[in-house]
Amino acid sequence: MTTYQSYTAEDPGLRVNSHFFETERGVVLVDTQLHLPYAEEVLEQIRSTTSGNLLYIVTTHAHPDHWYGNTIFRRAFPNVPIITCRSVSDEIQATALPRRERWDRLFADRIPKAEDLVFPDCVFSGRLTLKLGEHTLQVDEYGPAEAGAHTVVYVEEDRTLITGDIVDNKKHPWIGERNIDNWCAILEEFRQRYRIDTILPGHGAPGGAELLEESSQWLDNYRTVVQKHLEPEALHLTEEGAQKAFEEIVSGYPDFFLPHWGEQTNLGIGLRKLDSSFAGNSGKPIRTADGKM
Ligand SMILES: [Zn+2]
Repeated sequence: MTTYQSYTAEDPGLRVNSHFFETERGVVLVDTQLHLPYAEEVLEQIRSTTSGNLLYIVTTHAHPDHWYGNTIFRRAFPNVPIITCRSVSDEIQATALPRRERWDRLFADRIPKAEDLVFPDCVFSGRLTLKLGEHTLQVDEYGPAEAGAHTVVYVEEDRTLITGDIVDNKKHPWIGERNIDNWCAILEEFRQRYRIDTILPGHGAPGGAELLEESSQWLDNYRTVVQKHLEPEALHLTEEGAQKAFEEIVSGYPDFFLPHWGEQTNLGIGLRKLDSSFAGNSGKPIRTADGKM
């Protein structure tokens, strides 16, 4: 059985995970952190606990907490391919600069400068199968869920699925991208498509297949609570409705991590950018032509 290791950032780094494991051909690393000092710690952990022979990096989605650390790994391993699917790559290209501007106000010198950002450079569509000795990795492309697109890694021999933020463990997910229906459909597709013993989530501790159920339940509850506080035919919650929905959701999950971005929370922001699946919502695109959200 393969040893999977997970590095989890401290709270300012949103408790984001980097997962890595050794194959017969070398080490595979999935996601590289938001803050450069945490990425350095992942690098140190890989060097001290594995062969140190990094073979591939996989980027699960376009949110900066999953790939800003590519900068550190590109310096240490100039030739290691950084893999993601076409739709994630496109989303990174479209959103990297405006997002960096916004995150710069929060984290300044802990994230890469714009000119130092390192994008995935090995891009596939649909499914990429990597046969690495005894390990067969299925690297699969998914559409909109927590982000606009996703790459997941499934290791057949270990029945292990590395989900990025399609599944988080005991953390309020980011719901600001209006993809709740498709997100639920993808969770169902995971159940059908993979035999799963272990899930290595985007944030929070590893778990079993029950994490799929927990994610679905959180999303169902979110929909129910928002629906309750949404005025008939309204496109958005009122400020009062958003506040009530926030309190109801947070009190229902008292042990869940709630990420803060400065003064705001990810859930607070998300509730003010409702999903297009709600009745009456016009489903406007969340991203403008210049990539701003
Ligand atoms: Zn994340």
